[in-house]
Amino acid sequence: MSQSEDTSAQTTSLTNHDRTPIHIPGSIQPHGVLLALSNQLEILQVSSNTQAYLGKEPEDLLGQPLNCLLDARQVEIVKQCWGKKIGSANTFKVSILTSSGERHFDGIVHRTKEAVILELEPSISESELSFLGFQALASEAIAKMQEASNLAECLHLVAGQIRNITELDRVMVYQFDQQGSGSVIAEVKREDLSPYLGLHYPNTDIPAQARELYRRCFLRFIPDLNARLVPLIPQENPITQQPLDLSYSLLRSFDSCCVEYHQNMGVTCLLVISLIREQQLWGLISCHHQTPKYIPYEVQKMCEFLGQIASSELAHKISHSEWDYKVKLKALQSEFLESISQADNFIDALIKPEIRLLDLVSASGAAVCLDNEITLVGTTPDIDQVRTLIEWADSQVNDNLFSTDSLPQLYPEAAAFKDTASGLLLLRISKVRRYYILWFRPEVIQTVNWAGNPNDSIKVEADGSVTLCPRTSFAQWQETVRLTSLPWQPCELDSALALRNAIVGIVLSKADELAKINLELERSNKELASFAYAASHDLKEPLRGIYNFSTVLLEDYNQILDDDGIECLQTVVSLSVRMETLINSLLRLSQLGQAQLRLQMNDLNELLNQVIEVFRASRQDFQFVNIRISRPLPTIQCDRVLVNEVFSNLIGNAFKYNDKAEPWVEIGYLDTDEHPLVFYVRDNGIGIPEHHLETIFRLFKRLHSQEKYGGGAGAGLAIVKKIIELHDGRIWVESTVGVGSTFYFTLQ
Ligand code: ADP
Repeated sequence: MSQSEDTSAQTTSLTNHDRTPIHIPGSIQPHGVLLALSNQLEILQVSSNTQAYLGKEPEDLLGQPLNCLLDARQVEIVKQCWGKKIGSANTFKVSILTSSGERHFDGIVHRTKEAVILELEPSISESELSFLGFQALASEAIAKMQEASNLAECLHLVAGQIRNITELDRVMVYQFDQQGSGSVIAEVKREDLSPYLGLHYPNTDIPAQARELYRRCFLRFIPDLNARLVPLIPQENPITQQPLDLSYSLLRSFDSCCVEYHQNMGVTCLLVISLIREQQLWGLISCHHQTPKYIPYEVQKMCEFLGQIASSELAHKISHSEWDYKVKLKALQSEFLESISQADNFIDALIKPEIRLLDLVSASGAAVCLDNEITLVGTTPDIDQVRTLIEWADSQVNDNLFSTDSLPQLYPEAAAFKDTASGLLLLRISKVRRYYILWFRPEVIQTVNWAGNPNDSIKVEADGSVTLCPRTSFAQWQETVRLTSLPWQPCELDSALALRNAIVGIVLSKADELAKINLELERSNKELASFAYAASHDLKEPLRGIYNFSTVLLEDYNQILDDDGIECLQTVVSLSVRMETLINSLLRLSQLGQAQLRLQMNDLNELLNQVIEVFRASRQDFQFVNIRISRPLPTIQCDRVLVNEVFSNLIGNAFKYNDKAEPWVEIGYLDTDEHPLVFYVRDNGIGIPEHHLETIFRLFKRLHSQEKYGGGAGAGLAIVKKIIELHDGRIWVESTVGVGSTFYFTLQ
């Protein structure tokens, strides 16, 4: 490959050896002559071939003013160079009178930091391409490139154009990848030559220094790699004592490595044109010829111009397709935003339809992890593999993102699922809540047709230093790049981050909404509680009136009333008694709604004894009941009065709803190490049907008529539940009808 010219120079990055940088070789190629001038246009250095071109020995020129060679008009053109940017060249026609007559040259002048460099290449007057001819060719080329439907076609066209005007054996277009290695993506050649199209070249073939020169200087021409190089006289600039910087020189010489490299390919003449995108070297148009061939300067410039057109067209074509892709990703992002903001179910919004989540970053699989719940989409590793992968990848995250196209190389366990996830893109939405989205790409087994074994080009010396040497074999050498996926593009990473922003924004605004609703709920709860309190309190007064007047009627007017009237009045009395009980329960419950807990350490044994004593004192039937306490109860922090009410209610119910000859109730707590402790009140009573195990805790819910089991308001368990919830606890019941019930509860 032609790019390896100057290969030895790249050893600066690989070895400690002090090598000559490629831009100051101290010599030029023999197809022209070079003069280095001071800012006063005095000749400081010349190539040693001046006699052949100018009819003067170097000694006759050194120290002389430029006007000893050029006329005043030409000198003026050279002078203007000082006002120009370093490297930017002026081209003009030069005629010089020598002892053998007038000679014509193409003069190319540019400046370096310290000198003006004038290079003269003999004009070939019989050049077939006139300006108009070239203009026609260029506009045709532009039109065709613009019409080309894709990049490869466009570059093939330009390769063809360049081959047409140069008549070189082979014209290739070579594209670099992110690592600097590259491949031949277009080729036009003499039919009998073997094709290089599709071959890959390692980055070691194109040294960093050479790349930098190709980036700055778009044309490089070596008509004959076997030509004898022409040294500069003197070797160093007599003013600065520095070697002459030939970075922008067209005649700059080449080194032996370059010769050897190309000899291996059977190449003698080389023309290289840079392809630039966004000021970076995107690729090269590399032209080979088997025999020495001189291409007139004008034609070289035409090739350079075509290269520039190709550069701008390729930039346009790439931007176009990147733009299309970005637009597609943006559309997906806004679709996501819409569905996430409207969704009740967040996961559904993300994964329905599944393809949308995958398309967002062009992945083949994805996993959504919310609070350790993992949902898989497309082709992915299994749930356990994803779970452990998240643990590892989370430590790699930077700015909420981690991506790699060679996961198994960083995380060896991934070798087991390389087929689904050689590439990973992980988006962290919340570490605390464990919200992650992962995207996967499979292994792309890229069989690379290296042009020669890339390892052959690196030689490790005895002292351990590394040098590059031209590879001797250009036979196709296959290497498989394993455990690698297609790379993630910056716009895909942006797309993932945009999704994160959308999710975070929406989750935050949902949390805001929730906080508002909670506040509103709290306010209306308070209002309701105070309303219930006021209502029940106020209802009691007229109720008392109804009761009192009914009893007065019964007592003082029972002579006047008949039996039916008396019975009606008795019902009014008993209903108002019952209503008072109901109102009292309601009052109690609403009081609890506003209650402040008085927490303190309470010995539950003591507390329970008190409850039992009250029972025994107040109820005859309680004198001999069987109350078992399985083992001493602990001392815990709770509100004494309220917990007393809990035990009173539960123990009261245990005996109330009991039809056994020998009723018993057992009070204790479960034997576990777990916190909080689970207390229970167990009986051998009538039991509760399964479908009522929850409803019995509702206010005024009774399972029996008033006449049975001593009646009741149906509020006891609702009050118990409220008290337990005030303690941040929980209550539930297990029961078997006819056998008995156990009420369990916790008090945090
Ligand atoms: P009340 O006892 O005033 O009816 P509760 O709220 O205390 O109200 O109880 C609600 C209902 O739950 C009761 O009517 C009863 O049917 C059922 N219940 C409560 N405790 C028990 C128990 N230990 N065994 C069987 N049923 C019970």
